[in-house]
Amino acid sequence: MNDSLQARPSQSTNPEATAGERYDFFRVVQGYLRDAAALVEMPEDTLTILSQPKQEIIIHFPVRLDSGEIGLFKGYRIQHNNILGPYKGGIRYHEAVTLDDCKALASMMTWKCALMNLPLGGGKGGIKFDPRKYSSGELERITRRFIHALGSNIGPSHDVPAPDVGTNAQTMAWAMDTYVNTVGYLSHTSSKGVVTGKPLASGGTHGRAKATGQGLVHCIRYWAEEKDFTLEGSTVIVQGFGNVGSYSAALLSKLGVSMIAVGDHSGYLYNPEGFNPHKLQEYVRKHGSVAGYPAGQSIPREQFFRLKCDIFVPAALENQIGVAEASVMDTKLIAEGANGPCSPEGERILIERGIDILPDVLANSGGVTVSYYEWVQNNRSESWTLEEVDARLEVAMKRAYRKTMEMARQKNTTARLGAYAVALQRLMTVYAERRIWP
Ligand code: NAD
Repeated sequence: MNDSLQARPSQSTNPEATAGERYDFFRVVQGYLRDAAALVEMPEDTLTILSQPKQEIIIHFPVRLDSGEIGLFKGYRIQHNNILGPYKGGIRYHEAVTLDDCKALASMMTWKCALMNLPLGGGKGGIKFDPRKYSSGELERITRRFIHALGSNIGPSHDVPAPDVGTNAQTMAWAMDTYVNTVGYLSHTSSKGVVTGKPLASGGTHGRAKATGQGLVHCIRYWAEEKDFTLEGSTVIVQGFGNVGSYSAALLSKLGVSMIAVGDHSGYLYNPEGFNPHKLQEYVRKHGSVAGYPAGQSIPREQFFRLKCDIFVPAALENQIGVAEASVMDTKLIAEGANGPCSPEGERILIERGIDILPDVLANSGGVTVSYYEWVQNNRSESWTLEEVDARLEVAMKRAYRKTMEMARQKNTTARLGAYAVALQRLMTVYAERRIWP
């Protein structure tokens, strides 16, 4: 049965939200854009341009399933802005993917690339289906049909996708191979750089798998230095144990930070002695979720958000920390691995309660930064060492962290609006220089 055919209203991914209530993620991001634009006195016409994506592509494509049935899938690719360079952003496979969520995520990619000083713009895409219900062969055919349908709408110097929720290096290998064999071969040039986040042997880079977690952990370190907080012996709680959550936990454990609770789509686990993130990573790779992991006690979602810890890393989906969660959370820092995990109301409460937030646009930008390094290596037919990638990422994260916090202090605003403001300053400078054609 093809769940992409079962049309249903887009629902909030936060189970605490009122039934049927829709979380308007795009409107939330537009709100931050407006607030930050006011801080940097962005001209009204530039704001108008940035408030909508340049292109919105919606594709319905058929795929033969293992049963012999044909499933019809709905895919999106949003190209938000390319004034700084080719569109760049992940592809999400999730049952809750909507056009507006892709628009929100694509625009956040524009801010991230601008903040990180990358010559890239913002894009995002996805397919609305639950990948867990499909075999590996079906996932390969779904990916290949989607990439084929996108055709020359993507390309190494035009729009460069990457992994996001529900996709991984294997998905990118299929995507690259499909593009190379359909659109890329016409130009007789190497087009491996059409996607990033590929496996190493297929043109990926050292350090990409851990990159988002690594960037997040750098930000946590800079925060700890600023606050004179000792990470060694502290505790972390992680929501979402996929790429971002698991690498964040593993890298934090190297700094002596103990993960005392973890959760994913299957449920939540607590262990006051601390989980071994490497063993849990292996378990999740094998079993698909944290469910049934023997070293923890199963707890309800509500209790998970009440647990006392030093650092909370949301690394699942948007809108997970609303009013209910923000009012009871007992932590010093929220380091946003996920995009948009705090609702604006949730964020207000957290700030009132003195909880610091490292915002998504800064904290999870290590992923796109190392994706950029992969793209550069592909374009130049180079292969950098892990040490080289790690060193460049650290310099880039430190610069972005410093600029974000300086801006927040200077404008007397939140770190989130500080990060947006740095990004918008770069974009408005380019718009002022290039102006609008003709
Ligand atoms: P992933 O698919 O590897 O992992 C997602 C995790 O979230 C899984 O553990 C899944 O079980 C969990 N999850 C899904 N629905 C949930 C729910 N309703 N409640 C609780 N947990 C749930 O995805 P990822 O790549 O780790 O991405 C996670 C977040 O980080 C997303 O917001 C994504 O946009 C963001 N992000 C990812 C990258 C990257 O490089 N992969 C970069 C920047 C930002």
